[in-house]
Amino acid sequence: MNTIRMDKLEKALLPYEKQLQRQERFRRLLGVKEVEQPTYQRYITGPIERFEKTRMAFLCMRPDNPYGEELRRKFKERTGYDHYLSPLPYEELDYEDRIGRAMADASYRGCAEYEPKPFPVTSPAGRLQFEDRAWVSRLIKKVGLMLGADIVRITQLDPRWVYKGVDISHPYAVVVAVQHKPSLVNLAPSYFSWGSTADSYSRLKLITTQLTDFIRGLGYDAMYRETRGGGNPELNMVPIGLDAGIGEFCRTGRVLSPEYGNNMRLKAVTTDLPLQPDNPISFGLHDFCMACESCAKHCPAGAVPTGEPSDRIPNPVHNNPGFRKWWINAEKCLIFWGINKRKWPSCGGRCIAVCPWIKPMNRFHNTVRWLAIHSPIFVKRFLVRMDEFQRRGNRR
Ligand code: SF4
Ligand code: SF4
Repeated sequence: MNTIRMDKLEKALLPYEKQLQRQERFRRLLGVKEVEQPTYQRYITGPIERFEKTRMAFLCMRPDNPYGEELRRKFKERTGYDHYLSPLPYEELDYEDRIGRAMADASYRGCAEYEPKPFPVTSPAGRLQFEDRAWVSRLIKKVGLMLGADIVRITQLDPRWVYKGVDISHPYAVVVAVQHKPSLVNLAPSYFSWGSTADSYSRLKLITTQLTDFIRGLGYDAMYRETRGGGNPELNMVPIGLDAGIGEFCRTGRVLSPEYGNNMRLKAVTTDLPLQPDNPISFGLHDFCMACESCAKHCPAGAVPTGEPSDRIPNPVHNNPGFRKWWINAEKCLIFWGINKRKWPSCGGRCIAVCPWIKPMNRFHNTVRWLAIHSPIFVKRFLVRMDEFQRRGNRR
């Protein structure tokens, strides 16, 4: 590989090589460690079976889902609606929300309706051979960034995180993260913050379908994977994102990265292209979440737990046993979305908007990030209080 000159390729991807180097330097300066085992091991207490996707709270809203009768009954009783997605007529919304709703609907369309048939895999005769896995892994990451991803990392696909009944033989997952637009998510709960989620899913769909075509063009099998609860999910993205080192597990049950906090969405492309997996990472997030309960305090549904991780499962239908962790109560979250439909078609992530880790990456906030990682618990608590104080000031 090293003997072949590829000046044009290197020049074409130079901005993305630099972007990757900036990301690596950022993590190094913060003191983020690459570790052998993902830090979620501390939350595993027993064997984990592959989860049946029809038990997901989102999918339980479908009228024909046998696991969802109880949830649908409660939802209807509390909200008067059959489904959290049944739209309020535009004319019942006030002026600003009509514009927000139009933005959200437009943003959602890509992820909901774009199902391209991937390019055929280039025939074996045209398959490129890569002797250097590190080189081709970096190539895939740079192309992912070029297509619009904010972070791209690679992991070996752990079959425990593939939903039961889904058959995937590819050994690798290329994980793509896209940040929600901060000015929209900061308005959670609102139509605008819901729009930021929808927009991220649509951009992810485009990026992962294009990355799939790129890998197939090199002569290897690849497939973009559905992950949305409202779609037909194949992969459970939280542990896969943790395995790939996108971030660590946080109190909201999501992946929290040093760069964007939990203000992002993830999707993956699986492939048989031989790649070099990245390591999971560790930056002491468990201790920070123990010092901070902002998401739990501000969740309007009371769906985010306070205190220590627990092995008390909120609902055996929607949750998989085998963990002592922070469990999100999906029923409370979904029912709340429906109750507040007039203003808040989904909550759109108040638990994200209030997280201290979603601040911009500038010198001041990066210094605070460093302190958040390396300081003792009383300093972490002080940082959380300062963040609350600043947020209250901004709302005035
Ligand atoms: S999305 Fe909203 S309701 Fe659901 S857990 Fe987050 S803050 Fe709570
Ligand atoms: S708001 Fe605080 S407790 Fe919640 S995920 Fe963010 S850092 Fe953790």
